[in-house]
Amino acid sequence: MAEKLSFFQKVNTDFDKAARFTDYPPGLLEQIKICNNSCHFTFPLKRDDGTIETIHGWRAEHSHHKLPTKGGIRYSTLVDEDEIMALAALMTYKCAIVDVPFGGAKGGIQVDRNQYSLSELERITRRYTYELIQKNYIGPGVDVPAPDFGTGETEMAWIFDTYATMAPDKLNAIACVTGKPIEQNGILGRKEATGRGVVYGLQEACSIAADMKPLGLTPGLSGKTVVVQGFGNVGYHAAKFLMEADASVIGITERYAGIYNPHGFDIEKVATYREETGSIRGYPSATSIENPNEGLEWACDILVPAALENQLTAANAPRIQSAIIAEAANGPTTPAADAIFQERGIMIIPDTYLNAGGVTVSYFEWLRNLSHVQLGRLGKRFEDSTQRAMLQAVEKATGYQFSNDERQLIHGADEEDLVNSGLQDTMIRAYQELRETRMQHRSKNEDVDCRTAAFLNAIHRIAQSYMQLGIFP
Ligand code: GLU
Repeated sequence: MAEKLSFFQKVNTDFDKAARFTDYPPGLLEQIKICNNSCHFTFPLKRDDGTIETIHGWRAEHSHHKLPTKGGIRYSTLVDEDEIMALAALMTYKCAIVDVPFGGAKGGIQVDRNQYSLSELERITRRYTYELIQKNYIGPGVDVPAPDFGTGETEMAWIFDTYATMAPDKLNAIACVTGKPIEQNGILGRKEATGRGVVYGLQEACSIAADMKPLGLTPGLSGKTVVVQGFGNVGYHAAKFLMEADASVIGITERYAGIYNPHGFDIEKVATYREETGSIRGYPSATSIENPNEGLEWACDILVPAALENQLTAANAPRIQSAIIAEAANGPTTPAADAIFQERGIMIIPDTYLNAGGVTVSYFEWLRNLSHVQLGRLGKRFEDSTQRAMLQAVEKATGYQFSNDERQLIHGADEEDLVNSGLQDTMIRAYQELRETRMQHRSKNEDVDCRTAAFLNAIHRIAQSYMQLGIFP
C-alpha cells in the first residue's frame, strides 16, 4: 500500500475502507469526507531582537453538519494545510463516535515554540486569534478552538482575552475556546482529560475476556506492561493513570531520548526528574536510548503512541512487539502499517475513539461556560445531606456503624466528579457501540476491525444528521 499518500489522503483511505460497508449515496459520502473550509493566513512577527519574520497559520473546518465546529490549535514545524485538514477530519469523526455535538475543525501555526520567547508566543497567538475573528473562524456558536500539540491553557487564555475584547456577544464570549485555565472559566479535569480518556477506553477494551484471549492476554489492566511514546500532556497523563490502574509502564520515549526499566517506572518521579534536568535521558536505574524511535519496538502488552502522526509505518510495523496499540495521538498509524498489524493479529484501539476524552471534556467546559454555572454547584449540598440521612437511617435500622473510611465515600458530586463520571460513561458507551458494530459485521462474515467499526459509527451518525436536515433523501 502506498506510503506516499498525504496525511489527509490516509485519513480518507480509512474512511473509504469503512464506507464500502454502507450503501449511502456516493454524493453523501463525498460530502461527509470533504473538508468544507480551510484558510491560510500569514502575518508578520516583530521578534524581540527587532527582526521581522513571517508566520504561517491555518484553520480548517472540516464539517458543519453540527455547530459549532471544534478542534485544537497546534504549534509545530510540521503544520501545513494538509495536516490541518486531516486533523480537522479526524475531529469530525471523533466527535461523532463519542456523540459530542460538534463538527470537526483544527488550527495550527508553523512554529517550533521552543524557538520563541513567551512574549513572542503571546504576540503570535493574539494576532492569530485576530485573524480568526476577521475571517469568522471563531465564536461560541461558530468554531471553538482548544489546546493541542505545543499549546496549553496559557495560549487558550490569550485567545479568550483577544476574542472577548472584540466580541459582539460579551456574555457568551467565554465559550469561544476551551482548555482555559480554571481561573479563566476553564473546567476541572480538562488538562488530564485526553490521558484519562485513554485509560478509561483501555480499561473497557481490556475488560472483555473474549477479545483478550486471541491476544494471549488476561482481562484487566493490572500487571500489563506498557510503552508510552511521548511524554507531553497526553503521554504523561496516560502513563500516570495507567500506573494508577496497576499497569506497569516499562518504557517512555520523548523527542530526543527514551528510557526503559522492565520493573516499571514511577511516573511522578520521572516527571520531576524531567522538570529538573530538562529531559528524561539518564533517569536513574533505567536504560537510556538516544533514538526514541527504537522505543516503539520494545516488547510490551500495550504500546501507546502519544506524540504525532505517521509514527507506525510499513517500515517499523513488522518489528513492533506489542499485543495492543492504543492510539492516544492523532493518526499515529499509516494505512500500510495498519494492514500489517491486522495481518499480525495486533489489536488497534483507534485514535478516533481512544483520544476523544479531550474533546468530550471540552464539551463539558463549553456547556458550563454557556450556562454560567459550575457543574454540580446547585445540587452538591443537597445530595450530600440526602446521602448522609440515608446512611443514618441504615445505621439506625441495622445497628451497623459505618467506619470513617466508609463515611468518606459519601459526598455530593462536585465538578471534577461529574466531569470524570461523564467522561467514563462516554468512553464506555462509545466502546460498546464500536464493538457492537464490529460484531454485527462479523456475524455477516465481514472482517471489520476496530478502526473501521469506529469510522462506520461516525459515518452513520453524520449521515443521519444530514438526512434530518433534509439535504439528502
Ligand atoms: N486537541 C484535542 C484533540 O485532538 C482536543 C480538541 C478539543 O478539545 O476541541 O482531540
